[in-house]
Amino acid sequence: MSTATSDKSSSSNKAKDLIVDVVIFGGGIAGLWMLARLRQAGYQTLLLETESLGAGQTRYSQGIIHGGTKYALTGKLTASSESIFAMPQIWRDCLQGKGEVDLSTATVLSEHQYMWSTPSLMSRLSGFFASRVVRGRMVAVNKIDRPAVFQNEKFKGKVYQLDEPVLDAGSLIKALATPNIKNIMHIKAVTEFSKNKLTVEAADGEIWNIKAEKIILSAGKGNAGLLKKMGRSNPEMQLRPLQMVMVRSGLPEKLYAHCLGASINPRITITSGEDKQGNIVWYLGGQLAEEGIHRTAEVQINKAKKELQSLMPWLNFPAMQWATLNIDRAEPKQKEGQRPATSFCFEENNIITTWPTKLALAPNLANDVLEQLEKQNVTKSNVMEMPEFSHASVADLPWQEEDKWQH
Ligand SMILES: Cc1cc2nc3c(=O)[nH]c(=O)nc-3n(C[C@H](O)[C@H](O)[C@H](O)COP(=O)(O)OP(=O)(O)OC[C@H]3O[C@@H](n4cnc5c(N)ncnc54)[C@H](O)[C@@H]3O)c2cc1C
Repeated sequence: MSTATSDKSSSSNKAKDLIVDVVIFGGGIAGLWMLARLRQAGYQTLLLETESLGAGQTRYSQGIIHGGTKYALTGKLTASSESIFAMPQIWRDCLQGKGEVDLSTATVLSEHQYMWSTPSLMSRLSGFFASRVVRGRMVAVNKIDRPAVFQNEKFKGKVYQLDEPVLDAGSLIKALATPNIKNIMHIKAVTEFSKNKLTVEAADGEIWNIKAEKIILSAGKGNAGLLKKMGRSNPEMQLRPLQMVMVRSGLPEKLYAHCLGASINPRITITSGEDKQGNIVWYLGGQLAEEGIHRTAEVQINKAKKELQSLMPWLNFPAMQWATLNIDRAEPKQKEGQRPATSFCFEENNIITTWPTKLALAPNLANDVLEQLEKQNVTKSNVMEMPEFSHASVADLPWQEEDKWQH
């Protein structure tokens, strides 16, 4: 049976031993969701985090709980991508405190998103509106019920309401981490790996020898380094970079909306947050961020300004302050660098490598991993308390860090 032991009287340079059923690397959405599910299922689980919780892609995410509309838009709806249909409802149950994990303390920024476009494009989208994914999930919004920015007389497009919620990533990380904080160790580095044993240096300098039946890698971009350290070349990872744009001051209200442009890929996706002073921040992604990766920050900001000026010329542009954020999406390698359709987990010699590929798909990934553990009868020895060790804190959201606004 697994045990957790620690020698509290030992000096800081004497290694301590810890035996658990499962070790998870990485405290982003994937690792934290798995930690919650695995602990509930009875696995004694330890999560290791080198930075702060959410510090990778999760805190940069736009927090949209996709239900497959984007796949329907691009015509890339396949059997494997169908898992995303169920996601908004799974998340809603969790947000109401009656789902597989308790997210009742997480903040829902918006119950739905909007989608807007020009009338000419709408006529080309009739197939999309008739598709199974979209039916019942997207309704046209009367002028009076639209967000104020779309009530301006100069606005000529159509607005639809999309049944996909948007969450605040910071509160989401907190909601998942808080009940499991005693099982999260803040580490400086992994100094040794051998089969199911590893040695780590904790943030407080303590050295821990950890033994686990299974090791799960959910360290996002960090998975590649961990695999290399273990002498493995599989599975391969791909990075898809983005240059996101943030804008604050002079904004009329918070907005959660996709704009469809000449193509049916969202031309721009706007979500909203607040900086430390409480100013509204718009966070701009979509095509703008994908195509902006080779632009300097200045050129990308000019591009973003022009986009917003052409879409919403009535906004108060002179008052606005701008910044950009470079961040990579980490995913399993795909043919020609395409975007993966669903979450990913791959096991080899007791190491399970995972990428959710979307925040929204974290529940799907956790289910797949649990299924593998159950099939292999991994020990469930959730009977003991964890020893004392240094715990990781929750990362700030990028727009709350004042230095991110300096260019
Ligand atoms: C700009 C942007 C916007 C996005 N918007 C959305 C969206 O609206 N909706 C959606 O569904 N998806 C979205 N995504 C995708 C989504 O954010 C990611 O798929 C998801 O957050 C990945 O989570 P993760 O836990 O796998 O990785 P990460 O969030 O990257 O977490 C990995 C963690 O591992 C830690 N780590 C790294 N190396 C090590 C190590 N050696 N040891 C221990 N810990 C380590 C890191 O510090 C980090 O905390 C977006 C992504 C980006 C970049």
